[in-house]
Amino acid sequence: MVHKCLVCNYDGLHDEPYDAKGVASDEICPCCGFHYGYDDDGMDKSIYIIWRLKWIEKGCTWFSKSRLHVVGWNAKEQLKGIGDC
Ligand SMILES: [Zn+2]
Repeated sequence: MVHKCLVCNYDGLHDEPYDAKGVASDEICPCCGFHYGYDDDGMDKSIYIIWRLKWIEKGCTWFSKSRLHVVGWNAKEQLKGIGDC
């Protein structure tokens, strides 16, 4: 099953950002660095857009030093459909 980041649209998250009860996964997106359950309160959806814009502003750089992206990863392709890079 594919789990997508609500901020950057990365589709390699280990867990669903929020489970059926709305509990955050506590996972840090390796792509944009968003920490579910920490950087959000699970209520205000605009936080994803704010984070996305900040991430784009910083040049869409890969966040994690330990979880690397696949060869050929492309932020622009990834963001298609949810925003512009
Ligand atoms: Zn992300």
